[in-house]
Amino acid sequence: MTDNKITIAIDGFSSTGKSTVAKQLAKELSYVYVDTGAMYRAITLYAMRNGYIKPDSFDKKALIEDLPSLHLKFIFEESLGFAAIYLNNENIEDEVRTLEVSQYVSRVAAVSEVREKLVAQQQEMGLEKGVVMDGRDIGTVVFPNAELKIFMTATAAERAGRRFKEMKEKGQDVNYEEVLKNVMDRDHLDTTREDSPLVKAQDAIEIDNSALNIEEQFEKILQLAEAKLTTTNK
Ligand code: C5P
Repeated sequence: MTDNKITIAIDGFSSTGKSTVAKQLAKELSYVYVDTGAMYRAITLYAMRNGYIKPDSFDKKALIEDLPSLHLKFIFEESLGFAAIYLNNENIEDEVRTLEVSQYVSRVAAVSEVREKLVAQQQEMGLEKGVVMDGRDIGTVVFPNAELKIFMTATAAERAGRRFKEMKEKGQDVNYEEVLKNVMDRDHLDTTREDSPLVKAQDAIEIDNSALNIEEQFEKILQLAEAKLTTTNK
């Protein structure tokens, strides 16, 4: 038996708990975890700060022109237990998690030039395998040959409830209705965009976690990963 590493793609709707389970899995397997949503959020924050995106306007051209000068990286942070996202050497981990960024991110993520840049960086990060990557298009576009693909779903109400609780715990001033609306708006934009819409890859295993707790989800996905590793290493 050799110790071949595999690529694990975890896709699904927003707030399905993908990142929680992906982080746990990466830790358990000593793999690298990549939160691709944070990368789209980082570009969105940049567009907001520069006034390129507003509720009723979006200067895509200006954003596209600036793309070559935007550098994203992840740096592991002991206190968080995972890697924080940096934009041009500034730690923006907290700022990218606000509801305001969530309200704009799907419009930015629909821009093909943005996707092209981020997909190329993601593919490079996963070149040596041993990676757990979560997002919307990992199993379909970024790593169509990933050995294990998971597609996570849960009802919109369940997802909004979880996201609301998480944001409240971080001290953010939000109400449940606006969080639910954001979850539903993003579902719509992410599944209907032209470039790389959110769809389940044909060979992905779907997990509806509406009724599963974090531990149950983790156990289920870990078993699937271990089964894959056994067959890959034969
Ligand atoms: O995963 P998270 O909810 O942080 O992602 C934020 C947004 O980024 C998604 O709603 C989607 O619009 C976009 N995204 C994407 N492709 C990915 C990851 C995220 O389009 N691989």
